[in-house]
Amino acid sequence: MRPDSLNPYFAAITGLPGIGPKLAKPFNRLLGREDGARVLDLLLHLPSSWIDRRARPTIREAQPDTVVTLEIVVDRHLPTPHGSRAPHRVYAHDETGDIVLAFFKADRGWMERLLPVGETRWISGTVTLYDGIAQMVHPDRVVDAAGLAKLPPIEPLYPLVEGLGHGHLRRAVEAALGQTCELPEWQSDEDSAGRAGFHEALRQVHQPRDAVEATSAGAAWRRLAYDELLAGQLALALVRARTVHDVGRPSVGDGRIAAKVEAALPFSLTSSQVNALAAIRGDIGSTNRMLRLLQGDVGSGKTVVALLAAATVVEAGRQAALMAPTEILARQHMKTIQAIADRAGLRVALLTGREKGRARDQLLASLRAGEIDLVIGTHALFQEGVEFRDLALAIVDEQHRFGVHQRLALASKGEAVDVLVMTATPIPRTLVLTYFGDMDSSELREKPAGRKPIDTRTIPSDRIDEVVDRLGSALADGRRAYWICPLVEESENSDLAAAEARFADLHQHFGAKVGLIHGKMKGAEKDAAMAAFAAGETQLLVATTVVEVGMDVPEASIIVIEHAERFGLAQLHQLRGRVGRGSEASICLLMYRRPLGEIARERLQALRESEDGFFLAEQDLKLRGEGDVLGTRQSGFPGFRIAQLDKHADLLERARAEATAIVRNDSDLVGPRGAALRLLLHIFERDVAVKLLNAG
Ligand code: ADP
Ligand code: MG
Repeated sequence: MRPDSLNPYFAAITGLPGIGPKLAKPFNRLLGREDGARVLDLLLHLPSSWIDRRARPTIREAQPDTVVTLEIVVDRHLPTPHGSRAPHRVYAHDETGDIVLAFFKADRGWMERLLPVGETRWISGTVTLYDGIAQMVHPDRVVDAAGLAKLPPIEPLYPLVEGLGHGHLRRAVEAALGQTCELPEWQSDEDSAGRAGFHEALRQVHQPRDAVEATSAGAAWRRLAYDELLAGQLALALVRARTVHDVGRPSVGDGRIAAKVEAALPFSLTSSQVNALAAIRGDIGSTNRMLRLLQGDVGSGKTVVALLAAATVVEAGRQAALMAPTEILARQHMKTIQAIADRAGLRVALLTGREKGRARDQLLASLRAGEIDLVIGTHALFQEGVEFRDLALAIVDEQHRFGVHQRLALASKGEAVDVLVMTATPIPRTLVLTYFGDMDSSELREKPAGRKPIDTRTIPSDRIDEVVDRLGSALADGRRAYWICPLVEESENSDLAAAEARFADLHQHFGAKVGLIHGKMKGAEKDAAMAAFAAGETQLLVATTVVEVGMDVPEASIIVIEHAERFGLAQLHQLRGRVGRGSEASICLLMYRRPLGEIARERLQALRESEDGFFLAEQDLKLRGEGDVLGTRQSGFPGFRIAQLDKHADLLERARAEATAIVRNDSDLVGPRGAALRLLLHIFERDVAVKLLNAG
């Protein structure tokens, strides 16, 4: 399968000089390959920083606390006196002054051979001033003239694990570079002037000659990052070309149901909603299978868009499914949608884990018979036994809780099902591209008309009495509020205890006005608690984060979040989005416990300054790094070894465009450049895509 020219790259590292069975273990651990790291793994393990040893001042010129390489003549040794902890000292000079070298726990004989009296040596390390005298404690390097010629001017430093030093890494990498050669160029001929090839770029990053070359902003690193991104985008484009375009049963509606739905709405659509719908209808009506992301901040009105999209496929005589991540959300979608659907003649039904027995059987039978147009539910929707007469559209209200598998499972319930994924935490463009590739995306950027800004404030938790007082007068004015309880630990039980304690406490103050909802409640209890709050029978709802997403009670205008410092930015924004949905001006109180860490402070600050989910998502990315935003680990998206999304975002756009062009021109990768691109896919382990090519 793998072209022979790649064999040196895929050879075991144990074939490199100096890496025996003993060192192989920590190397395998370092490179994340317990089953045996390969030369390529080593080469793609890039330095995390470097030491610049190029400064060559005299002793007098040497800047304290910087790394310098000095040429010195050794004068005398002052060995550690017996039984003392003093260092072994070496006195030396150049024509401008004197310097003392200090070595703790050093062996006298060894020191005297390393720095022979009367000889010239080069020492590299950090100079300090001690009582006005230049000193270097434990020089990093002590070399003679021959050693100086081999001293790397810029010394890369690598992420390490126990049992390995930088020296091990440098020697192994040097050997690895020596055993591998340049590969045919797979990047396009444009901007090829002065561009290092893949192998040369690896050499430059591992053995840089100037400081820029060593960093992720340098040309060599950027080339490698581009290679990695191109491999990812190309694989996505190849997979997509083979799974999306060969299908297609366009659903073209006549607009009669959609018109009734719109007429039943108490508002008119925002222009973002109109645009998103036009794009969705275009997809649904085309012969290509839709894979579209509908991104919209909390409260931006995604549900209506979903309903109208469903109406279109129903007009074409087919069915739609809407899957929500939790039972509460599914029921809430059902509640909002049913009222409108009834008036539009759209037949809807709810299917969650709670529908059982005969009722469930009946529901499944009508679904199979096509007597239900739109089914709303939880993951119960994609279980066995759920069959559709003709499912055309799967809408996944994702809220980041589903993985790719569930999405596909639902889509497999029909033939060439169009998929619309709704996300409430906006995903920065860079991440959409990285993880979904060419998945199309529509954004609801506008808030529905009439929304008032939310007044967001922070307050330390020791002022809780003030908060309770103010809440008391707001409740007396008839307002409704959420009180979100702290995430105490990972355990649901301790969250629960905290919520119950807070509930008991607030109950003492406000009596029957207070309700409680948490994840451990039975379904019917949850419904009752929600209903009581929605109806205004309770005015203060104490909740754990189970209600984090999607709850829609427009009358609620206050939200208090305890221990706000323990939540992520995206989650806080979601929680805050529970208010500000009605006509009343809303307040969000972020209570935090002192002392507040740096990142937590910045998060709370960002929330105070902005309500724009897209902006906050970008901030979140900056504060956390890209890994966490989507919980990528759980959803099994591949990580990146070289590309850094904050630094190489521009490359991603280019890689995507290039991947699209490649697939358009040579979708089987058969030309000479195609052969080189296959190498690229192997190198970055996107060879799943190569298999696809050979098969078909
Ligand atoms: P999301 O799911 O995007 O968080 P929802 O679909 O729950 O938002 O909508 C939030 C609220 O806004 C709902 O009460 C909904 O009825 C209302 N809404 C949706 N679209 C509009 C609009 N164009 N104008 C006014 N209100 C709207
Ligand atoms: Mg929603």
